[in-house]
Amino acid sequence: MKLYPINAGNFKLDGGAMFGVVPKSLWQRTNPADSNNMIDIAARCLLIEDGNRLILIDTGMGDKQSDKFFGYYYLWGNDSIDASLKKYGFHRDDITDVFMTHLHFDHCGGSIQWNKDKTGYEPAFKNAAFWSNENHWQWAIKPNKREKASFLTENIIPMEESGHLKFVDLPSDKVLKNSPLGFDIFFADGHTEKQMIPLIKYKDKTIAFMADLLPTVGHLPIPFVMGYDTRPLLTLDEKDVFLNMAADNSFYLFLEHDAHHEIITVQHTEKGVRFKEKLTLNDL
Ligand SMILES: [Zn+2]
Repeated sequence: MKLYPINAGNFKLDGGAMFGVVPKSLWQRTNPADSNNMIDIAARCLLIEDGNRLILIDTGMGDKQSDKFFGYYYLWGNDSIDASLKKYGFHRDDITDVFMTHLHFDHCGGSIQWNKDKTGYEPAFKNAAFWSNENHWQWAIKPNKREKASFLTENIIPMEESGHLKFVDLPSDKVLKNSPLGFDIFFADGHTEKQMIPLIKYKDKTIAFMADLLPTVGHLPIPFVMGYDTRPLLTLDEKDVFLNMAADNSFYLFLEHDAHHEIITVQHTEKGVRFKEKLTLNDL
C-alpha cells in the first residue's frame, strides 16, 4: 500500500467560526488571523494505492459555484487535485473509489463537476464509486437550517443520479471494522450526523484521517470546538475518546484542514492530550 497527500486547493475561514466560544487571544497563537480575521485552511485529501484500487478520501470544494461564492473563501496557492495526482503519476480517471468523510461542500464538492456544455452535472471521477453512509446521506439531502448552506444540492444529488453511490454499513458501536474500503472507520456525530474518520493501517502504523473531528493542530484542547459543529457537547466527548486512543496507540493524525501540518502525533500531558511531533507522509 502507498499513501499520497492530494491538495485540492487552500482557502480561508473565519477564525471565530473555526473556534466557537474560544477567545481570539487564545486561538490566534496557533492559527494567526489576517486583517479580515480569516485563518489559513487546506483541503488536503488522501490517496490510497492498494493493489489495483485507488481510493481518494475527500475532494475539496470543486469549482461549480459562482465567483461570489468562492469570494467568501479567499482561495490561495496553486494546488489542485489534478496537479497533485499528476505529481504521483495518476489521473482522475484512475480513481476507483471516492470516500467522503461527510457531504459538507468543502469535503465533497470536487466529486461532481459541470458537464461539457454546462447544462447539468456529472461525476468528476468517471470510473469511481462514491462512498457515504445511509444516515449521513438522509441527513444531507434533507438538511436542517443550520447546515443547509453546507449541504449543496449540486454536490450531492448528482452522485445518486450517476448510479455510482454506495453506502458503508453503520457500526453497532463507534468503529466499523474492515469496511469495504479496506480500512476501519470511526464514526463521530458531533460535527454532523455520522461523519466518518478512516483509520488506515500502513507500515504497522495507524493513520487517522481527521477531517472535521480535528481540523487543525490548534483544535487539540478538548473545548476548542468549531462553531460549525451541530452537537458541540458530543464533539467534546468524541475528541476526548479519540485523542486518548490516539495518544495510547501512537496514531499518526493526518490533518485535512491544517495548512501547515500534514501529520501530527500526540502525547499525554498534565493538561490533557497535546501535540508531540510534526511529520509528513514521507517521514513514515
Ligand atoms: Zn464539515
